[in-house]
Amino acid sequence: MLALTGVRKSFGGTEVLHGVDLSVRKGEVVAVLGPSGSGKTTLLRCANLLERADAGTLELAGERLDLASATPRQAAGVRRRTGFVFQGYNLFRNRTVLGNVTEGLVVARKVPRAEAEERARACLARVGMDDRCDAYPEELSGGQQQRVAIARAMATDPEIIFFDEPTSALDPELTGEVLGVMRQLAEDGMTMLVVTHEMGFARNVADRVVFMEDGAVVAEASARTFFDQPANDRVRAFLHHTM
Ligand code: ATP
Repeated sequence: MLALTGVRKSFGGTEVLHGVDLSVRKGEVVAVLGPSGSGKTTLLRCANLLERADAGTLELAGERLDLASATPRQAAGVRRRTGFVFQGYNLFRNRTVLGNVTEGLVVARKVPRAEAEERARACLARVGMDDRCDAYPEELSGGQQQRVAIARAMATDPEIIFFDEPTSALDPELTGEVLGVMRQLAEDGMTMLVVTHEMGFARNVADRVVFMEDGAVVAEASARTFFDQPANDRVRAFLHHTM
């Protein structure tokens, strides 16, 4: 479904991704774990062309793209086929819940408004937010806002959804409701690439774990093997500190 190969990225002369390979199969949930600053978010942003990689290729459902030289049109094409859920929700503050989910469908995809609203309501129902269609983001808790952001990502029927630390801005009591929605999405067969610090989610929901350190993938295994039989001392040390 998705394959990243040889992704390199520098900021101001410092290379933070040193040629990363990562793949996700259709219907698979892959969790990207690793210490702070290891390059997880940068990798996700390069994959969705929110950040321009210096080198590397992206293969999305058979189509291959050079990340460093992708045209704006190609970048827009990738973003149209993928969903992205940000750490800070990134909802439009001046739009209602329903407006946030329909906007992209109507403006970017030219879906007729009535059809877009119907699709949006169905997605909001899946995240348990269909009773708050007329609310504005500021009237919602962080967990509710993130559920709306997930509905927005789902609404475009993406081939894969990228999640960038979707619960790290949330209070612990709100984290569970968002992880519950993500778990449901995974059970429904959505292909997901999730950067997270939530070890419980990685262990119980992800099929596979990719572990990054210092801009490189240093371990990769099924979730069960990753946690039960750590591949090396770096993974062991990380698990020791985080669990
Ligand atoms: P965390 O778990 O703390 O979010 P991360 O693994 O997602 O960390 P990144 O946010 O990808 O790590 O950052 C990787 C490195 O790149 C860090 O050293 C960071 O300071 C640097 N970096 C990221 N974005 C930028 C930027 N826009 N400009 C300069 N340096 C950046």
